[in-house]
Amino acid sequence: MSPTPSDPQLRDALRAAGLRATAPRVAVLRALHGEAGPSTHGEVFATLAEHGWDRATLYRNLVDMTEAGLLRRVDLGDHVWRYELVGTADGDGHEDAQHPHFLCTACGDLACLPDVRAELPSAGVPSALSQGSVSIQFRGVCDRCKHAE
Ligand SMILES: [Zn+2]
Ligand SMILES: [Zn+2]
Repeated sequence: MSPTPSDPQLRDALRAAGLRATAPRVAVLRALHGEAGPSTHGEVFATLAEHGWDRATLYRNLVDMTEAGLLRRVDLGDHVWRYELVGTADGDGHEDAQHPHFLCTACGDLACLPDVRAELPSAGVPSALSQGSVSIQFRGVCDRCKHAE
């Protein structure tokens, strides 16, 4: 994982996406840079609790940044939206439009698998597949839980 960008870099990214560089937005981006996988609104809220921003403010910022293309929403089939950074060219592992995720069935931890490629045929599959607008998820027991057995 690459080092977390500085606040000026995060503000530049926000402005480049057409958003005002507000403190909550910079903090949300910083928090997501520190995660190995997508985070829920509740997790982001908990991470930033010390700032005292309310849940609605953070939710609106997550939605704004998703619409601006800075974040991506991931649906794992449990009806909970999770948010992750959309990659930039700085090699943070998220530069691909889509990548699979690994969900640990023991601890619930979710990890990005940016190096795993799913080869999909262009014909004979639902169009959403060929357009990449689906999420691929693996389930199993993560290394940490496995070693804790
Ligand atoms: Zn686990
Ligand atoms: Zn991811």
